[in-house]
Amino acid sequence: MNYQLVINEVYNTFRNSTNKGKIANYIPELKKVDANKFGIGLVTISGDSFGAGDYKDTFSIQSISKVFALTLALKIVGNKLWKRVGVEPSGDPFNSLVQLEFEKGIPRNPLINAGALVLCDILISKLKNPKDEFLAFVQKLGNNNNINYNLNVVASEKKYGFKNAAHVNLMKSFGNIKNNIDDVLDFYYHICSIEMSCEALSKAFLLYANRGVLPYTGEEIISLSITKRINATVQLCGLYDEAGTFSFKVGLPGKSGVGGGIVAIHPGKYCITVWSPRLNKKGNSYKGINALELFTTKTELSIF
Ligand code: GLN
Repeated sequence: MNYQLVINEVYNTFRNSTNKGKIANYIPELKKVDANKFGIGLVTISGDSFGAGDYKDTFSIQSISKVFALTLALKIVGNKLWKRVGVEPSGDPFNSLVQLEFEKGIPRNPLINAGALVLCDILISKLKNPKDEFLAFVQKLGNNNNINYNLNVVASEKKYGFKNAAHVNLMKSFGNIKNNIDDVLDFYYHICSIEMSCEALSKAFLLYANRGVLPYTGEEIISLSITKRINATVQLCGLYDEAGTFSFKVGLPGKSGVGGGIVAIHPGKYCITVWSPRLNKKGNSYKGINALELFTTKTELSIF
């Protein structure tokens, strides 16, 4: 398969197409990004890297970091985690509060905001220096010490994060948050603020395509069983109330963020990230979904 050729075709198809959608504006710092950025980066488990456009520029990975938080939390507490967070798709927006009261403070899944806030609570309880250790973990997955937090994004989210604060407070009232509310929010905003390029993100996701093993060092980070569970959760919950459409169109597990990135995993083969900051009404990258759909259509490769 000539991945570079297909990436070029997909890139050229969408490069000048009308870019519908709007850049996330509820986090003021994210509004500063050039809305016309567009990059596609693919890395294979054998270490080959391909890309087009702005695939080496860094962007705010936002909710994509929920997958890293899930991985680290599962590594530390194992399947006990599922007592505090479910595995069903929510069918609701990423920041919806409606199910949380009905379901007594147990989030539907770890990839919506409520679920990730519980992951953050668990990591704060278990790690000595949560921010340093989390960043070191992501750097290790990506084999890349340049990965970092963006503290301006952290400050911006903190200032306007009323809804995330509502989530933590509601869950605390049900006993599903153990730590101080401000500490949980601070850690959550840090993990959302991580910046990576399409290339770096695809590389850091390779363990999910490679049975839980880092292909460049051979180190097993998580078991095959945990890898299966993470990929299944990403497939069903990674794009919130658009997860069904994404699965239908693309046929790969994928995770989006409001920074405009979407990373998709092809187990046994590669990870691919598309970045385009304009979002559709569900908060997912408009071009990102279309580009990934064309990519799997042209390569005729999906998990199905
Ligand atoms: N930091 C964002 C928030 O909490 C993450 C949302 C997202 O990427 N979908 O609102």
